[in-house]
Amino acid sequence: MDHLGLRSRGEKNVFSGFTTAEMEKMDRILKQSEQLPNSEVIKKLTTGFNRSAGRAGKPLLKWLEVQNWFLDRQKCLMSRDTSLNGPNMNETSDMPKGEKVIDLSKLEYEAKSSDGAWYDVEIFITYRFNTSSGYEVLARYDGFGPEEDEWVHIKNVRERSVSLEHLECSKVMVGDIVLCFQEKTDIARHYDAQVIDIQRKLHDIRGCRCIFLIRYEHDNSEECVRLRRLCCRPEY
Ligand SMILES: [Zn+2]
Repeated sequence: MDHLGLRSRGEKNVFSGFTTAEMEKMDRILKQSEQLPNSEVIKKLTTGFNRSAGRAGKPLLKWLEVQNWFLDRQKCLMSRDTSLNGPNMNETSDMPKGEKVIDLSKLEYEAKSSDGAWYDVEIFITYRFNTSSGYEVLARYDGFGPEEDEWVHIKNVRERSVSLEHLECSKVMVGDIVLCFQEKTDIARHYDAQVIDIQRKLHDIRGCRCIFLIRYEHDNSEECVRLRRLCCRPEY
């Protein structure tokens, strides 16, 4: 698993600068091979792109940028395929041998809706490329029907946040951005929030008794919450 590589990529490097013809070609290659092309193929492809007339006057591509494009596209395709076909699709033995495919299908995602809250994604139904803003995915939210499907920019999609065990409260630090469950009388949603202060308490038989003062990013309201209301980014 190459989480580090996957997460450390700057998305702005991934989604900018490809011509339509280049993206169509990469799409064809991905569909034909059904797996990530190896680095030799990608390097050759990059050289070809850089020599093509369509690239005249544009910055030269780096092969890593091309590879990142494939990784991201595969992320979309595999999460969709896995959801549709079940988890066994990667175990078919007729896949060509070659460079190891990063198994993105085991990753689970959450997406930030237009209401500013994060929801678990059940599947990505399809994707589209918007020339002004880049890639968007059509997300089906976990626990919601098709009528709630939403186009979400890829920058608002991330690996799911994880809840914390009682003993993991020490990992939460002042200044951290966490996902916090906000409960109001009529509405309960997960929002990004910053940890402003922490009162560390002795744990007892009920577990963590620490109190976290957090400030929600979407409305700047502050609240004191217990650990069970918080989720954090997965570790890499
Ligand atoms: Zn604690």
